[in-house]
Amino acid sequence: MDLGIKGRRAVVCASSKGLGRGCAEALAEAGCDLVLNARGEEALEATAEHIRITYGVNVVAVAADITTDEGRAKVLEAAGEVDILVNNAGGPPPGMWHDWEREDFIKALDANMLTPIALIKALVPSMMDRGWGRVVNITSQSVKAPIGVLGLSNSARAGLTGYVAGTSRQVAGSGVNINNLLPGIHATDRAVALDGGVAKAQGITSEQAKIDRCKTIPAGRYGTADEFGAVCAFLCSAHAGFIVGQNVLHDGGGVNATL
Ligand code: NAP
Repeated sequence: MDLGIKGRRAVVCASSKGLGRGCAEALAEAGCDLVLNARGEEALEATAEHIRITYGVNVVAVAADITTDEGRAKVLEAAGEVDILVNNAGGPPPGMWHDWEREDFIKALDANMLTPIALIKALVPSMMDRGWGRVVNITSQSVKAPIGVLGLSNSARAGLTGYVAGTSRQVAGSGVNINNLLPGIHATDRAVALDGGVAKAQGITSEQAKIDRCKTIPAGRYGTADEFGAVCAFLCSAHAGFIVGQNVLHDGGGVNATL
């Protein structure tokens, strides 16, 4: 299917690896020019070069921490006017409800709620002026079904979800569509780290932790960044203009819910 976004310009945050990279590659395959971002310069440059060579699109790489004012300013300066924004950042660490202090919540809110909101506020007005835009926020299945040890993530992402629910309906009339894409378990560094934590806590190997977790997913496996990226690219496509403020699960059936 032609996604109808060839030549569009997209910012994909936190995209040297994992789900962000999957989204960047799918958008590049659809013909979008990209602004990529991550903190580590080496992996970011390697990803940018791979995408340039593979898809023949223009790629600007901005090494910066997207959760800081300075990092966002660097990305926005390089970005200029963009048509597509994919919001992403690393997830907060796991822990127990009684251990988190105010500072832990502020850090999680900054990364996973206030950063995407700041970028939406910076980039959506010019999309509205031009009558076309797409925003996809990478959040988590924890928005639909809480994961106890990820309480910082549950809290921050629920806040973003509430903001998007109202805002998406305010901007839809100007041709700008904002939606959230909710990953379940995907085979990325983040999943390996979480499996490592479970293995340590239960005195088992990481491989066993992965096997155990696969049993909780009806699809019987972890998702891939490529699959996730393809869904993101569709939500950014010309065909997704009637999808507004939705929370699209990509979880292999992991969330056991009717709606
Ligand atoms: P990942 O494999 O660890 O990749 C994270 C990417 O983001 C890397 O490119 C990393 O590069 C970049 N990054 C992290 N923090 C950043 C920051 N502050 N500023 C700029 N770039 C940053 O993670 P992932 O699995 O793709 O997860 C992406 C998001 O989805 C996370 O918020 C995660 O919590 C959420 N999620 C993932 C899963 C899953 O199963 N994978 C499930 C539910 C939710 P640098 O480290 O070099 O900056």
